[in-house]
Amino acid sequence: MRLIYLDHNATTPLRPEVKKVITDSLDVFGNASSLHPFGYEAKKRLEQVRKQVLDIIHATEGQVVFTSSGSEANNLALKGLVCTGTQCRHTLCESEGFHFITTEVEHPSVYQTASCLKHLGADVTYLPVDSSGMLDPETLEKSIQPNTVLISIMIANNEVGTIMPVKELGLIARKFGIPFHVDAVQAIGKVPVDVDEMNIDLLSLSGHKLNAPKGIGALYARQTMHLCPLIHGGHQELNLRAGTENTLGIFALGASLEAAMNHGPQEMEQIKKLRDQLHQKICEKLDGVHLNGHPEQRLPGTLNLRFDKIDGAAILEMLAMQGIAVSSGSACSSGSDNPSHVLTAMGLTPEKARSSIRISLGYGNTEEEINIAAKSIIDTVNKLRALSPL
Ligand SMILES: *Cc1c(COP(=O)(O)O)cnc(C)c1O
Repeated sequence: MRLIYLDHNATTPLRPEVKKVITDSLDVFGNASSLHPFGYEAKKRLEQVRKQVLDIIHATEGQVVFTSSGSEANNLALKGLVCTGTQCRHTLCESEGFHFITTEVEHPSVYQTASCLKHLGADVTYLPVDSSGMLDPETLEKSIQPNTVLISIMIANNEVGTIMPVKELGLIARKFGIPFHVDAVQAIGKVPVDVDEMNIDLLSLSGHKLNAPKGIGALYARQTMHLCPLIHGGHQELNLRAGTENTLGIFALGASLEAAMNHGPQEMEQIKKLRDQLHQKICEKLDGVHLNGHPEQRLPGTLNLRFDKIDGAAILEMLAMQGIAVSSGSACSSGSDNPSHVLTAMGLTPEKARSSIRISLGYGNTEEEINIAAKSIIDTVNKLRALSPL
């Protein structure tokens, strides 16, 4: 059976350039902290990738901490900020009196971290979004309190692809002098990110959403940010994350960032074209199809659709049997019966949220694949509707 991968927001395949860097680096085994040629070589290459992270987000200053994932980077940004000052005070419990602002549509690694801080006594505001998943900057401005310590907002949503008005949000954060963290995991390599222009102080990214392997992420932090580590131990990563660095993962991340810098914009144009073709084909042949997410301010590869009178899980399963990989909501919440918190925050009823699927295109998808997928989706929905008692 021919397999067609349309679940790039869950994870992505490796690019050939990335594979090559991994296989070519298998013998670069030195510990980046060691003071001899083996260590120097690892360290030199690690520092090059740190520079590449700064480059892709147009940072002129600041630190980059390599982490195990985007989730860890998000945890470090939120929890690490609670104990300010250079001396770590192990004070998650001192979070009392701190106010965090985030949104109702964040990835669980921000959403649940905020709720953990809330359990520890912090005050958390989850900002609502409109029916397209968009946050109104005015809503942010109104939610700011004298004790607000952090604003954490994703650049692009993983389920519906909506791109937040980050520049406006950053201006508000700057106006009130509040640190601004963005979860840029879905945005990097897909939409331009400029931390200076957007007034971003902290930024999370993840390798495996960007055609690098799983298990590597990074947190960018402006020089003025004082973070406390989540993992204590050795002096690695500017004392912000103990543990010998995942050098192979870091080198691979570097290769994927380089490819994204060189080919990203043209590839994204192509991916957007394919996505819009797929959308158009589906709408030409089927009634009762609705787009979830913003019609324009949206990631180029994301197409989240709702089909009247259909159970998304049933489409998913039937498409999977035909070798077509799509998703319902996010990979992180699939397997649970709960409707997507993102779609319900956008005002959909649980039933409507459950009749939605997320199709996400990315590197490597072809027009031929899109034609096959369109046909399968149309046939599947027709079949299910014929069976449906509704
Ligand atoms: C996937 C994802 C994450 C988590 O990244 P991992 O590396 O899988 O932990 C965080 N935020 C968003 C928006 C994501 O899509």
